[in-house]
Amino acid sequence: MKIIAAKKILKANEELAGKNRARFNQAGILTINMVGSPGCGKTTFLEALVARLAGRAAPAVIEGDLASTIDAQRIEKLGVPVVQINTEGACHLDASMVAAACDSLELDGVDLLVIENVGNLVCTAGFDLGEHLRIVLLSTSEGDDKVAKYPTIFQKSDALLVTKIDLLSHGDFDVDRVAADMKRLAPNGRIFHLSARTGEGVQQVADWLLGKSRRREGGLAG
Ligand code: MG
Ligand code: ZN
Repeated sequence: MKIIAAKKILKANEELAGKNRARFNQAGILTINMVGSPGCGKTTFLEALVARLAGRAAPAVIEGDLASTIDAQRIEKLGVPVVQINTEGACHLDASMVAAACDSLELDGVDLLVIENVGNLVCTAGFDLGEHLRIVLLSTSEGDDKVAKYPTIFQKSDALLVTKIDLLSHGDFDVDRVAADMKRLAPNGRIFHLSARTGEGVQQVADWLLGKSRRREGGLAG
């Protein structure tokens, strides 16, 4: 019985995710589901990304957290439209939460919507939010075995962002091992190396996303 119930929940989520995606398509918005463990640097990367989109694309952000508005406040300071979803303990976002958040976001004129998921490498993998791209962040302080240990989320991501590369010289994180594991799981996945603190590598991600966004405007992206 429980297995059937779980399947039903996922089926309902899939349907809602499809509706979200149709809504984003109609509005010409490229939507990104950003996942990664707590502390991998999702919000810090987002701050650095927003700075590099200035004058090139209009972003909006949905922040997912168990509690608090700490991250949303950081984004609000940048003048970016933001909505906080408090999951009240739930460890991932689902499509219905995103639909509700979109209802209270001004999406007119927005080109790029970034959804920062709850910090979690496990069940965030199972829930389509209606995004076009899923990007997973892994910081050099987390250990280079994480791609192999949490394969599902990496397999289902369009890009891996290895963050905090400015800390590489302070540890023994093997970037080649991580890249090899990612390539095995997601042969078409892009791999970026960056430090949001020093700014290294952030522009490359911004350019990649802007390329995807422009293709949407041209009606070419699926
Ligand atoms: Mg955050
Ligand atoms: Zn969860």
